Amino acid sequence: MKVLIADDSATSRAMLRKSLARWGYEVVMAEDGAEAWDILEKPDAPPMAILDWVMPHLTGPDVCKKVRETRREPYTYILLLTSKNSKDETIEGLEAGADDYIVKPFDQQELSVRLRAGKRIIDLQLSLMEAREELREKANKDLLTMLPNRAAIMAILEQEIARSHRDQRTVGIALLDIDHFKKVNDTYGHFAGDAVLRETAARLKSSMRAYDQVGRYGGEEFLVVLPNCDMEQARTQADRMRQKLQDSKILADAGIEIPVTASFGVTISDLSDRSPAVFIRVADEALYKAKAGGRNCVVCLDIGDSEMKST
Ligand code: GH3
Ligand code: MG
Ligand code: MG
Repeated sequence: MKVLIADDSATSRAMLRKSLARWGYEVVMAEDGAEAWDILEKPDAPPMAILDWVMPHLTGPDVCKKVRETRREPYTYILLLTSKNSKDETIEGLEAGADDYIVKPFDQQELSVRLRAGKRIIDLQLSLMEAREELREKANKDLLTMLPNRAAIMAILEQEIARSHRDQRTVGIALLDIDHFKKVNDTYGHFAGDAVLRETAARLKSSMRAYDQVGRYGGEEFLVVLPNCDMEQARTQADRMRQKLQDSKILADAGIEIPVTASFGVTISDLSDRSPAVFIRVADEALYKAKAGGRNCVVCLDIGDSEMKST
């Protein structure tokens, strides 16, 4: 683990460096408070810092306060080093945001165990961050298809609409629904149905452009977000996906081959500030027409020709 040693005394720096290297830490050095802050403010800053109290430019407590103001993650564990040993100064150091405090001249063994205590806190925080990241990922993912779930794909749509509109470009929105999917479940069972959903997700992904995104919108419905598309380009993209689905049967367990098709409703955002949900309603209206028109087809609908035109 990397540790920053900030001390204006060369002797003190050399001594600390030697000890820390012996205990297996990787050492980074600073000769004053300003240099220490330069290092600690960088994204790849060491997770632990030993700061001398009195240093030119910025004192140890000054650096501490600056680090705490950033509220950066991962956490920087700070140990203040001082020859002061009054209660007031201990309080001042801790109030500046230091985690621990050690008085010079210090005992080697004491420093070693205090550093280990700091390392435990850092490791604990890192594992908490990892767990939080994992939860965040799970909260955004549909665990059957591993695609973004409804909330996540809606958030993506909202972002893409905002981004494209800044560049005066429209976003294609395709809502698709697997045809007669209930029959798949009824005929082959729920597990085979799940396999069809997974393979459908994989085929949709493999037939998209790199910057298009797809999510599971509901049971057997998927939402595709097509940035920088006009209606014709969105239709072409949707039709490519439709083709990819019907091209070959999906192989479920035990050699069962299941033919799958889907119907697509397509629209594009206009450059208004309407909510993304409005465009999904238009795509849904188009999807309804695709179902009514015989399924396994793409129907495009402009918001001006939809029931949503006055919203
Ligand atoms: P249509 O062509 O009109 O869309 O007909 P459909 O049968 O596809 O539509 P319907 O809405 O009647 O049926 C959808 C079925 O999807 C019903 C539901 O049980 C099934 N379903 C939804 N989620 C899942 C899932 O996660 N796994 C499986 N196996 N089935 C699911
Ligand atoms: Mg449906
Ligand atoms: Mg369906």
